[in-house]
Amino acid sequence: MTEARSLPRNAALVHAFLRRHEGPATAYRILDGLRSEGVSAPPTVYRALDRLIALGLAHRVESINAFVACVRPEHDDGNGFAICRDCGHVAEFAGGAMRRTLGEIAEAQNFELDHATVELSGRCSSCRQADGEADRG
Ligand SMILES: [Zn+2]
Ligand SMILES: [Zn+2]
Repeated sequence: MTEARSLPRNAALVHAFLRRHEGPATAYRILDGLRSEGVSAPPTVYRALDRLIALGLAHRVESINAFVACVRPEHDDGNGFAICRDCGHVAEFAGGAMRRTLGEIAEAQNFELDHATVELSGRCSSCRQADGEADRG
């Protein structure tokens, strides 16, 4: 695992921002949040994100085009995200078993799998619980 402390300044700033940000952040949101730190150009943010993603310290959540800090740095063999469609909460989960299944599917297609990220869309427990409370009046 890479030490966040040894990151270049901009990557460290973006990483810290993602870690304190509630939920996933778009590149625009990150840029906005770091203006006061002197980060003012989108390419700076994208370069920092590329570096963090390459190091496994952050992930791009494709289906919502946003970024999250990694919460499971040990997940070398696959990971996934459960994305709440109501509140936008994103939970990262380890996906070793899923990765193996996808590998078997790929193999059956005579396809060499490099990378697999699964994004689940649904509703988180807080949103379902809020519904339950509303139902009871
Ligand atoms: Zn991760
Ligand atoms: Zn939710």
